[in-house]
Amino acid sequence: MQAMPHVLLVEDEPAIADTLVYALETECFTVTHALTGTDALAAAILGNFDFAILDIGLPDMTGLEVCRRLREISAIPVLFLTARDGELDRILGLELGGDDYVTKPFSPREIVARVRAILRRSAPTAQTSAAAAPTSLHHDAATMRIHCLGTPLDLTAHEYKLLLVLMKQPGRVFTRDQLLDQAWQDPGAVTDRTVDAHIKSIRSKLRATRGGAENLIETRRGLGYSLVQKS
Ligand code: CA
Repeated sequence: MQAMPHVLLVEDEPAIADTLVYALETECFTVTHALTGTDALAAAILGNFDFAILDIGLPDMTGLEVCRRLREISAIPVLFLTARDGELDRILGLELGGDDYVTKPFSPREIVARVRAILRRSAPTAQTSAAAAPTSLHHDAATMRIHCLGTPLDLTAHEYKLLLVLMKQPGRVFTRDQLLDQAWQDPGAVTDRTVDAHIKSIRSKLRATRGGAENLIETRRGLGYSLVQKS
């Protein structure tokens, strides 16, 4: 993560957005503000964000839809802003891979505190230098290839997306459901077993590249998978 975490703020009410931008920038965050879901997703494709704050009620699509599409390209933490005390929004939001939610009205300080807490929780290596590679894997976004110690891996599309999700947050344990949500366009059509099969295949490809060396993907029994963090 960068020294000044970059936050994507998606909020269509200028007054709320202004106070949040001010509060976050005061606390040394860099903020990109989008008024619509479409603008937010366009920014997400181009930008290198560490965090997203998504208002649920947007003019062109819901924040939930923004999150679903964001999850196809990014594993960054998501905080939802919800106008009503909408239980359904909360449940849906967290199922879609959101990390937390705040109900309006809120204080900007509360939002900053939540963002900090979630970043601490989801990125235990935030204090290490950005130059230090957390694993021996390298992602080349332009060619959409993942390299292991310089050797490009021959991955299927789903294996690629799956490994990319794990690589975005080394050390974080992802449940099979989270991996399905983030690496499959239509997670309903596949099962937990599918994730296991793909992980097995990725491991064998990694082993082949590394000459049978260590296992980069760790199984947390009863929980899920995580990418092993190297010091
Ligand atoms: Ca709104």
